[in-house]
Amino acid sequence: MTRAIPDVAIVGGGICGLTTALALERRDGTPTVYEAASEYRPIGAGLLLQTNALLVLDRLGIADRVLTEGVPLRDTVIRSSGGRVLKRFDLNRVERNRFGYGFVAIHRAELQQILIDELNAEVETGMVCEAVLDTDPPTVRFADGTHVHPDVLVGADGINSAVRDAIAPDTELRTLESVVYRAVATVDVPEQHRARGVEVWGDGTYTGGAPIGDDRFYWFATAPETFAGDSTDSREVLSALRERYDTFPEPIPSVVESLDADDVFVTGLEDVPPLDRWHRGSVVIAGDAAHGMLPFAGQGAAQAIEDALTLAHAIDTSDDPSAAFERFEAERKPRADRIRSESRRLGTLGTMQSSVGSQARNIAVKLLPDAFFRRSRRRRASRTSLPESVSDRGRSA
Ligand SMILES: Cc1cc2nc3c(=O)[nH]c(=O)nc-3n(C[C@H](O)[C@H](O)[C@H](O)COP(=O)(O)OP(=O)(O)OC[C@H]3O[C@@H](n4cnc5c(N)ncnc54)[C@H](O)[C@@H]3O)c2cc1C
Repeated sequence: MTRAIPDVAIVGGGICGLTTALALERRDGTPTVYEAASEYRPIGAGLLLQTNALLVLDRLGIADRVLTEGVPLRDTVIRSSGGRVLKRFDLNRVERNRFGYGFVAIHRAELQQILIDELNAEVETGMVCEAVLDTDPPTVRFADGTHVHPDVLVGADGINSAVRDAIAPDTELRTLESVVYRAVATVDVPEQHRARGVEVWGDGTYTGGAPIGDDRFYWFATAPETFAGDSTDSREVLSALRERYDTFPEPIPSVVESLDADDVFVTGLEDVPPLDRWHRGSVVIAGDAAHGMLPFAGQGAAQAIEDALTLAHAIDTSDDPSAAFERFEAERKPRADRIRSESRRLGTLGTMQSSVGSQARNIAVKLLPDAFFRRSRRRRASRTSLPESVSDRGRSA
Protein backbone atom coordinates (compact mmCIF):
# COMPACT_ATOMS: atom_id res chain seq x y z
CA MET A 1 0.00 0.00 0.00
CA THR A 2 1.31 3.44 -0.85
CA ARG A 3 1.19 5.99 1.94
CA ALA A 4 0.49 9.61 0.97
CA ILE A 5 3.07 12.25 1.85
CA PRO A 6 1.63 14.51 4.57
CA ASP A 7 0.48 18.04 3.82
CA VAL A 8 3.68 20.07 4.15
CA ALA A 9 3.85 23.86 4.51
CA ILE A 10 7.23 25.46 3.94
CA VAL A 11 7.84 28.95 5.32
CA GLY A 12 10.53 30.69 3.26
CA GLY A 13 10.97 30.43 -0.50
CA GLY A 14 14.75 30.84 -0.59
CA ILE A 15 17.21 28.20 -1.69
CA CYS A 16 16.35 25.77 1.09
CA GLY A 17 12.57 26.19 0.90
CA LEU A 18 12.40 25.89 -2.89
CA THR A 19 14.76 22.90 -2.99
CA THR A 20 12.81 21.15 -0.23
CA ALA A 21 9.59 21.73 -2.15
CA LEU A 22 11.15 20.33 -5.31
CA ALA A 23 12.53 17.28 -3.47
CA LEU A 24 9.04 16.61 -2.04
CA GLU A 25 7.42 17.00 -5.45
CA ARG A 26 9.91 14.52 -6.90
CA ARG A 27 8.40 12.11 -4.37
CA ASP A 28 4.83 12.98 -5.41
CA GLY A 29 4.28 15.38 -2.52
CA THR A 30 2.29 18.61 -2.95
CA PRO A 31 3.94 21.11 -0.58
CA THR A 32 2.96 24.77 -0.27
CA VAL A 33 5.66 27.43 -0.03
CA TYR A 34 4.96 30.71 1.78
CA GLU A 35 7.46 33.46 0.99
CA ALA A 36 7.62 36.84 2.75
CA ALA A 37 8.81 38.89 -0.24
CA SER A 38 6.05 40.19 -2.49
CA GLU A 39 8.12 39.25 -5.54
CA TYR A 40 11.48 37.70 -6.36
CA ARG A 41 13.96 40.49 -7.08
CA PRO A 42 17.47 39.77 -8.28
CA ILE A 43 19.77 41.05 -5.53
CA GLY A 44 23.28 41.60 -6.78
CA ALA A 45 25.02 38.54 -5.52
CA GLY A 46 26.37 35.28 -6.78
CA LEU A 47 26.95 31.93 -5.20
CA LEU A 48 29.62 29.35 -5.53
CA LEU A 49 28.04 25.90 -5.53
CA GLN A 50 30.53 23.24 -4.59
CA THR A 51 30.52 19.58 -5.60
CA ASN A 52 28.28 18.44 -2.74
CA ALA A 53 25.54 20.89 -3.78
CA LEU A 54 25.76 19.73 -7.41
CA LEU A 55 25.53 16.07 -6.40
CA VAL A 56 22.20 16.82 -4.71
CA LEU A 57 20.98 18.94 -7.63
CA ASP A 58 21.90 16.04 -9.89
CA ARG A 59 19.58 13.80 -7.87
CA LEU A 60 16.84 16.36 -8.41
CA GLY A 61 17.55 16.41 -12.14
CA ILE A 62 18.62 20.07 -12.37
CA ALA A 63 22.43 19.98 -12.14
CA ASP A 64 22.85 20.27 -15.91
CA ARG A 65 20.66 23.35 -16.07
CA VAL A 66 22.60 24.93 -13.20
CA LEU A 67 25.85 24.23 -15.05
CA THR A 68 24.45 25.78 -18.22
CA GLU A 69 23.10 28.93 -16.54
CA GLY A 70 26.18 29.40 -14.35
CA VAL A 71 29.90 29.18 -15.03
CA PRO A 72 31.62 25.88 -14.24
CA LEU A 73 35.03 26.71 -12.80
CA ARG A 74 38.29 25.18 -13.94
CA ASP A 75 40.17 26.16 -10.78
CA THR A 76 40.21 28.46 -7.78
CA VAL A 77 43.22 30.44 -6.62
CA ILE A 78 44.09 31.99 -3.26
CA ARG A 79 46.47 34.96 -3.50
CA SER A 80 48.07 37.40 -1.11
CA SER A 81 47.23 41.08 -1.56
CA GLY A 82 50.64 41.44 -3.23
CA GLY A 83 49.57 38.88 -5.86
CA ARG A 84 51.56 35.85 -4.69
CA VAL A 85 49.72 32.56 -5.34
CA LEU A 86 49.25 30.85 -1.97
CA LYS A 87 47.24 27.92 -3.29
CA ARG A 88 45.69 26.82 -6.54
CA PHE A 89 42.99 24.15 -6.59
CA ASP A 90 42.52 22.27 -9.82
CA LEU A 91 38.83 21.36 -9.76
CA ASN A 92 39.12 18.95 -12.67
CA ARG A 93 41.71 16.86 -10.92
CA VAL A 94 39.90 16.15 -7.64
CA GLU A 95 36.23 16.99 -7.93
CA ARG A 96 35.23 16.60 -11.57
CA ASN A 97 37.23 13.42 -12.25
CA ARG A 98 36.16 11.66 -9.11
CA PHE A 99 32.61 12.92 -8.50
CA GLY A 100 31.51 14.13 -11.93
CA TYR A 101 31.04 17.73 -10.76
CA GLY A 102 33.45 20.52 -9.89
CA PHE A 103 32.25 23.94 -8.68
CA VAL A 104 29.87 26.29 -10.46
CA ALA A 105 29.40 30.02 -9.90
CA ILE A 106 25.89 31.31 -10.54
CA HIS A 107 23.74 34.35 -9.86
CA ARG A 108 21.46 33.68 -6.90
CA ALA A 109 18.43 34.87 -8.81
CA GLU A 110 19.17 32.41 -11.61
CA LEU A 111 19.40 29.49 -9.20
CA GLN A 112 16.11 30.53 -7.62
CA GLN A 113 14.49 30.87 -11.06
CA ILE A 114 15.58 27.35 -12.03
CA LEU A 115 14.03 25.98 -8.84
CA ILE A 116 10.79 27.94 -9.38
CA ASP A 117 10.56 26.78 -13.01
CA GLU A 118 10.94 23.16 -11.95
CA LEU A 119 8.23 23.36 -9.28
CA ASN A 120 4.63 22.51 -10.01
CA ALA A 121 3.53 24.48 -6.98
CA GLU A 122 3.05 28.23 -7.15
CA VAL A 123 4.96 30.01 -4.40
CA GLU A 124 2.61 32.08 -2.25
CA THR A 125 4.44 35.41 -2.05
CA GLY A 126 3.79 38.29 0.34
CA MET A 127 3.21 35.82 3.18
CA VAL A 128 5.21 36.94 6.21
CA CYS A 129 5.14 34.33 8.96
CA GLU A 130 4.64 36.14 12.25
CA ALA A 131 4.58 33.24 14.64
CA VAL A 132 4.10 29.52 15.05
CA LEU A 133 1.27 29.29 17.57
CA ASP A 134 1.32 25.51 17.98
CA THR A 135 3.78 22.81 17.06
CA ASP A 136 1.64 19.67 17.27
CA PRO A 137 -0.34 19.95 15.12
CA PRO A 138 1.29 23.09 13.69
CA THR A 139 -0.54 26.38 13.45
CA VAL A 140 1.13 29.27 11.68
CA ARG A 141 -0.02 32.88 11.75
CA PHE A 142 0.89 35.21 8.89
CA ALA A 143 1.03 39.00 9.03
CA ASP A 144 -2.13 39.34 6.89
CA GLY A 145 -4.09 37.41 9.51
CA THR A 146 -4.13 34.08 7.62
CA HIS A 147 -3.67 30.95 9.73
CA VAL A 148 -2.59 27.61 8.23
CA HIS A 149 -2.70 24.15 9.83
CA PRO A 150 -0.48 21.75 7.85
CA ASP A 151 0.47 18.23 8.98
CA VAL A 152 4.11 19.26 8.86
CA LEU A 153 5.73 22.70 8.98
CA VAL A 154 9.21 23.34 7.62
CA GLY A 155 10.89 26.59 8.67
CA ALA A 156 13.24 27.53 5.82
CA ASP A 157 12.99 31.22 6.61
CA GLY A 158 16.67 32.02 6.79
CA ILE A 159 19.05 33.17 9.49
CA ASN A 160 16.49 35.42 11.26
CA SER A 161 13.91 32.64 11.24
CA ALA A 162 10.55 33.27 12.90
CA VAL A 163 9.77 29.53 12.90
CA ARG A 164 12.93 28.86 14.94
CA ASP A 165 11.33 30.71 17.87
CA ALA A 166 8.99 27.74 18.31
CA ILE A 167 11.94 25.33 18.60
CA ALA A 168 14.86 27.28 20.02
CA PRO A 169 13.43 30.52 21.43
CA ASP A 170 15.84 33.35 22.33
CA THR A 171 18.55 32.15 19.96
CA GLU A 172 21.07 34.96 19.69
CA LEU A 173 23.03 35.18 16.48
CA ARG A 174 26.81 35.41 16.82
CA THR A 175 28.36 38.34 14.96
CA LEU A 176 31.81 38.78 13.51
CA GLU A 177 33.07 42.35 13.76
CA SER A 178 33.25 42.74 10.02
CA VAL A 179 30.90 43.55 7.20
CA VAL A 180 30.76 42.18 3.68
CA TYR A 181 30.34 44.22 0.51
CA ARG A 182 28.91 42.44 -2.50
CA ALA A 183 28.12 43.31 -6.10
CA VAL A 184 27.67 41.84 -9.53
CA ALA A 185 29.87 43.74 -11.99
CA THR A 186 29.34 43.97 -15.70
CA VAL A 187 32.93 43.73 -16.81
CA ASP A 188 35.05 42.05 -19.42
CA VAL A 189 37.54 40.08 -17.29
CA PRO A 190 40.78 38.82 -18.87
CA GLU A 191 40.70 35.34 -20.43
CA GLN A 192 42.52 33.60 -17.52
CA HIS A 193 39.75 34.69 -15.08
CA ARG A 194 36.78 33.48 -17.15
CA ALA A 195 36.59 30.07 -15.46
CA ARG A 196 38.49 30.81 -12.28
CA GLY A 197 37.35 31.57 -8.73
CA VAL A 198 39.64 33.90 -6.83
CA GLU A 199 40.22 34.70 -3.16
CA VAL A 200 42.67 37.32 -1.95
CA TRP A 201 43.72 37.17 1.67
CA GLY A 202 44.90 40.65 2.63
CA ASP A 203 45.40 42.47 5.94
CA GLY A 204 41.98 42.76 7.54
CA THR A 205 40.17 42.03 4.32
CA TYR A 206 39.18 38.97 2.43
CA THR A 207 38.03 39.62 -1.10
CA GLY A 208 37.40 37.65 -4.24
CA GLY A 209 34.71 36.35 -6.50
CA ALA A 210 34.02 34.43 -9.65
CA PRO A 211 32.59 34.90 -13.15
CA ILE A 212 28.85 34.16 -13.30
CA GLY A 213 28.24 34.89 -16.97
CA ASP A 214 29.90 36.11 -20.16
CA ASP A 215 30.56 39.61 -18.91
CA ARG A 216 29.40 39.34 -15.30
CA PHE A 217 31.59 38.88 -12.26
CA TYR A 218 30.37 38.30 -8.71
CA TRP A 219 32.59 40.19 -6.26
CA PHE A 220 32.70 40.23 -2.45
CA ALA A 221 34.97 41.83 0.14
CA THR A 222 34.95 41.78 3.91
CA ALA A 223 36.11 44.85 5.82
CA PRO A 224 36.11 46.06 9.42
CA GLU A 225 32.80 47.63 10.47
CA THR A 226 34.57 51.00 10.62
CA PHE A 227 35.92 50.76 7.05
CA ALA A 228 33.75 53.49 5.54
CA GLY A 229 33.69 55.55 8.75
CA ASP A 230 30.18 56.82 9.41
CA SER A 231 29.49 57.36 5.75
CA THR A 232 26.37 55.86 4.29
CA ASP A 233 26.84 57.71 1.02
CA SER A 234 27.21 54.95 -1.56
CA ARG A 235 29.56 57.03 -3.74
CA GLU A 236 31.92 57.64 -0.81
CA VAL A 237 31.84 53.96 0.08
CA LEU A 238 32.65 52.97 -3.50
CA SER A 239 35.50 55.44 -3.69
CA ALA A 240 36.95 54.02 -0.41
CA LEU A 241 36.63 50.50 -1.88
CA ARG A 242 38.39 51.55 -5.10
CA GLU A 243 41.23 53.09 -3.15
CA ARG A 244 41.58 50.02 -0.98
CA TYR A 245 41.66 47.48 -3.81
CA ASP A 246 43.57 49.50 -6.38
CA THR A 247 46.82 47.60 -5.82
CA PHE A 248 45.29 44.15 -5.32
CA PRO A 249 45.89 41.44 -7.92
CA GLU A 250 43.58 41.31 -10.94
CA PRO A 251 40.75 40.94 -11.58
CA ILE A 252 39.80 42.68 -8.28
CA PRO A 253 40.78 46.30 -9.21
CA SER A 254 39.14 46.07 -12.66
CA VAL A 255 35.97 44.64 -11.15
CA VAL A 256 35.73 47.28 -8.39
CA GLU A 257 36.53 50.04 -10.89
CA SER A 258 33.67 48.91 -13.13
CA LEU A 259 31.02 49.15 -10.38
CA ASP A 260 28.41 51.87 -9.99
CA ALA A 261 27.72 53.08 -6.45
CA ASP A 262 24.24 51.53 -6.51
CA ASP A 263 25.60 48.09 -7.42
CA VAL A 264 27.24 47.58 -4.03
CA PHE A 265 25.34 46.41 -0.98
CA VAL A 266 26.65 45.73 2.48
CA THR A 267 25.56 43.22 5.13
CA GLY A 268 26.81 42.16 8.55
CA LEU A 269 28.42 38.78 9.15
CA GLU A 270 26.70 36.46 11.60
CA ASP A 271 25.97 32.82 12.25
CA VAL A 272 23.54 30.72 14.28
CA PRO A 273 25.05 29.14 17.40
CA PRO A 274 24.84 25.33 17.58
CA LEU A 275 21.26 24.51 18.57
CA ASP A 276 20.22 21.64 20.85
CA ARG A 277 17.53 20.59 18.44
CA TRP A 278 16.06 21.39 15.05
CA HIS A 279 12.51 20.18 15.63
CA ARG A 280 9.59 20.21 18.01
CA GLY A 281 6.31 18.36 17.48
CA SER A 282 5.56 18.51 13.76
CA VAL A 283 7.72 21.57 13.11
CA VAL A 284 11.28 21.43 11.82
CA ILE A 285 13.83 24.03 10.70
CA ALA A 286 16.34 23.65 7.89
CA GLY A 287 18.92 25.67 5.97
CA ASP A 288 20.11 28.94 7.50
CA ALA A 289 17.25 28.85 10.02
CA ALA A 290 18.93 25.79 11.59
CA HIS A 291 22.61 26.34 10.88
CA GLY A 292 23.20 29.73 9.23
CA MET A 293 26.94 29.97 8.86
CA LEU A 294 29.57 32.53 7.97
CA PRO A 295 30.33 32.52 4.25
CA PHE A 296 34.03 31.63 4.40
CA ALA A 297 33.68 27.92 3.64
CA GLY A 298 31.30 28.74 0.75
CA GLN A 299 28.93 26.08 2.07
CA GLY A 300 25.78 27.75 3.46
CA ALA A 301 23.62 27.17 0.40
CA ALA A 302 25.19 23.77 -0.21
CA GLN A 303 24.26 22.66 3.29
CA ALA A 304 20.73 24.02 2.82
CA ILE A 305 20.48 22.00 -0.41
CA GLU A 306 21.71 18.85 1.34
CA ASP A 307 19.06 19.43 4.06
CA ALA A 308 16.34 19.62 1.43
CA LEU A 309 16.96 16.19 -0.08
CA THR A 310 17.44 14.48 3.27
CA LEU A 311 14.36 16.09 4.82
CA ALA A 312 12.11 15.17 1.89
CA HIS A 313 13.37 11.60 2.05
CA ALA A 314 12.78 11.40 5.80
CA ILE A 315 9.25 12.84 5.54
CA ASP A 316 8.40 10.48 2.71
CA THR A 317 9.71 7.31 4.32
CA SER A 318 8.92 7.72 8.04
CA ASP A 319 5.79 6.74 9.90
CA ASP A 320 5.31 10.09 11.58
CA PRO A 321 6.84 13.59 11.54
CA SER A 322 8.75 13.17 14.75
CA ALA A 323 10.46 9.97 13.52
CA ALA A 324 11.21 11.77 10.24
CA PHE A 325 12.79 14.73 12.00
CA GLU A 326 14.89 12.51 14.31
CA ARG A 327 16.35 10.85 11.22
CA PHE A 328 16.83 14.16 9.44
CA GLU A 329 18.62 15.65 12.43
CA ALA A 330 20.81 12.58 13.00
CA GLU A 331 21.91 12.66 9.37
CA ARG A 332 22.37 16.37 8.92
CA LYS A 333 23.14 18.11 12.21
CA PRO A 334 26.65 16.78 12.91
CA ARG A 335 27.82 17.58 9.38
CA ALA A 336 26.23 21.05 9.21
CA ASP A 337 27.49 21.94 12.70
CA ARG A 338 31.01 20.83 11.76
CA ILE A 339 31.06 22.88 8.57
CA ARG A 340 29.65 25.91 10.41
CA SER A 341 32.56 25.68 12.93
CA GLU A 342 35.03 25.34 10.09
CA SER A 343 33.58 28.42 8.39
CA ARG A 344 33.89 30.39 11.64
CA ARG A 345 37.55 29.36 11.99
CA LEU A 346 38.21 30.40 8.41
CA GLY A 347 36.35 33.67 9.05
CA THR A 348 38.50 34.47 12.07
CA LEU A 349 41.60 33.84 9.98
CA GLY A 350 40.29 35.62 6.88
CA THR A 351 39.27 38.83 8.66
CA MET A 352 42.35 39.02 10.90
CA GLN A 353 43.26 42.70 11.41
CA SER A 354 46.89 42.36 12.48
CA SER A 355 49.37 42.76 9.68
CA VAL A 356 51.89 40.40 11.29
CA GLY A 357 49.17 37.83 11.93
CA SER A 358 47.94 38.06 8.31
CA GLN A 359 51.44 37.51 6.97
CA ALA A 360 51.98 34.50 9.27
CA ARG A 361 48.62 33.08 8.13
CA ASN A 362 49.54 33.47 4.46
CA ILE A 363 52.92 31.81 4.98
CA ALA A 364 51.22 28.92 6.78
CA VAL A 365 48.68 28.48 3.96
CA LYS A 366 51.45 28.51 1.36
CA LEU A 367 53.43 25.90 3.30
CA LEU A 368 50.54 23.50 3.89
CA PRO A 369 50.86 20.64 1.41
CA ASP A 370 48.37 20.59 -1.49
CA ALA A 371 47.51 17.01 -0.52
CA PHE A 372 46.04 18.30 2.75
CA PHE A 373 43.53 20.50 0.91
CA ARG A 374 42.81 17.79 -1.69
CA ARG A 375 42.00 15.31 1.07
CA SER A 376 39.66 17.67 2.85
CA ARG A 377 37.82 18.59 -0.39
CA ARG A 378 37.52 14.91 -1.30
CA ARG A 379 36.18 14.12 2.18
CA ARG A 380 33.56 16.88 1.98
CA ALA A 381 32.26 15.73 -1.40
CA SER A 382 32.30 12.03 -0.53
CA ARG A 383 30.28 12.64 2.64
CA THR A 384 27.48 14.51 0.88
CA SER A 385 24.10 13.62 2.41
CA LEU A 386 22.54 11.62 -0.42
CA PRO A 387 19.72 9.41 0.82
CA GLU A 388 18.38 6.70 -1.45
CA SER A 389 16.57 8.04 -4.49
CA VAL A 390 12.85 7.72 -5.14
CA SER A 391 13.34 4.88 -7.59
CA ASP A 392 15.06 2.60 -5.06
CA ARG A 393 13.12 3.54 -1.96
CA GLY A 394 11.20 1.20 0.30
CA ARG A 395 8.19 2.95 1.76
CA SER A 396 8.63 1.52 5.23
CA ALA A 397 12.31 2.45 5.75
C1 LIG B 1 28.25 37.12 1.92
C2 LIG B 1 27.68 35.76 1.75
C3 LIG B 1 28.19 34.94 0.74
C4 LIG B 1 27.73 33.63 0.61
N1 LIG B 1 28.27 32.85 -0.36
C5 LIG B 1 27.89 31.56 -0.45
C6 LIG B 1 28.46 30.70 -1.44
O1 LIG B 1 29.29 31.13 -2.25
N2 LIG B 1 28.09 29.40 -1.48
C7 LIG B 1 27.17 28.89 -0.59
O2 LIG B 1 26.87 27.68 -0.65
N3 LIG B 1 26.59 29.69 0.34
C8 LIG B 1 26.92 31.00 0.43
N4 LIG B 1 26.34 31.82 1.34
C9 LIG B 1 25.30 31.27 2.24
C10 LIG B 1 23.94 31.20 1.56
O3 LIG B 1 23.60 32.44 1.03
C11 LIG B 1 22.87 30.78 2.57
O4 LIG B 1 23.36 29.73 3.35
C12 LIG B 1 21.62 30.32 1.83
O5 LIG B 1 21.06 31.41 1.14
C13 LIG B 1 20.62 29.75 2.83
O6 LIG B 1 19.42 29.46 2.19
P1 LIG B 1 18.06 29.50 3.01
O7 LIG B 1 17.00 29.20 2.02
O8 LIG B 1 18.19 28.68 4.23
O9 LIG B 1 17.92 31.00 3.52
P2 LIG B 1 17.68 32.30 2.64
O10 LIG B 1 18.38 32.23 1.35
O11 LIG B 1 17.96 33.46 3.54
O12 LIG B 1 16.12 32.26 2.33
C14 LIG B 1 15.14 32.48 3.33
C15 LIG B 1 13.85 32.89 2.65
O13 LIG B 1 12.84 33.00 3.65
C16 LIG B 1 12.14 34.21 3.47
N5 LIG B 1 11.65 34.64 4.80
C17 LIG B 1 12.38 35.18 5.80
N6 LIG B 1 11.60 35.41 6.87
C18 LIG B 1 10.35 35.00 6.53
C19 LIG B 1 9.11 34.98 7.21
N7 LIG B 1 8.99 35.44 8.47
N8 LIG B 1 8.02 34.48 6.57
C20 LIG B 1 8.12 34.00 5.29
N9 LIG B 1 9.29 33.99 4.60
C21 LIG B 1 10.39 34.49 5.21
C22 LIG B 1 13.17 35.17 2.88
O14 LIG B 1 12.53 36.24 2.19
C23 LIG B 1 13.95 34.25 1.96
O15 LIG B 1 13.37 34.15 0.68
C24 LIG B 1 26.75 33.13 1.49
C25 LIG B 1 26.21 33.96 2.49
C26 LIG B 1 26.68 35.27 2.61
C27 LIG B 1 26.10 36.14 3.71
